[in-house]
Amino acid sequence: MLLQEILSYNEQFVENKEYVPYEATKMPQKRMVVVSCMDARLVELLPKALDLHNGDAKILKTAGGTITHPFGSIMRSIVTAVYELNADEIYIIGHHACGMSQSNPKGTLQKILDRGVASPEILSAIEYAGIDLEKWLFGFDNVEDSIQANINLVKNHPLIPKDVPVHGLVIDPHTGKLDLLVDGYKALNGVKN
Ligand SMILES: [Zn+2]
Repeated sequence: MLLQEILSYNEQFVENKEYVPYEATKMPQKRMVVVSCMDARLVELLPKALDLHNGDAKILKTAGGTITHPFGSIMRSIVTAVYELNADEIYIIGHHACGMSQSNPKGTLQKILDRGVASPEILSAIEYAGIDLEKWLFGFDNVEDSIQANINLVKNHPLIPKDVPVHGLVIDPHTGKLDLLVDGYKALNGVKN
């Protein structure tokens, strides 16, 4: 069982003091927040490819790296990082071949029906309450557009200081190569990318 494996590994980890190389404070040393995708290929690759070590950054992960709501949990985390944890730069990092770029909301809803979790009547009731489930589950057509939309959402947010640079990058989930999409410093100085 996975849980048992994790717990017994953990016991050894702590006993052997394997945590020592990771000791850090809660204030991010590089004063940065990263918003990226929950893709399993990025678990270790993303920090390694950016030379981020324990204690360096606040890393927020969500499906597609998408900030879906201006007052949702990701934006709340960014605001907290900026005001309480000394973060002064934001990096929005999407990736190529993202599952959310081929998301299939209709298929997901069908799976929910097939597993008997919800009936068509329940889905209708949710829609009736004003929640567009297909829109809610939809990812994006194009990663660059999605990153730009995230940047706009953060930059125009009424609680985010105007002098915080918001960068946009795309990472290759195989090689870790970064492509710069938006240089947040240039954008601050009114220079077009
Ligand atoms: Zn992804």
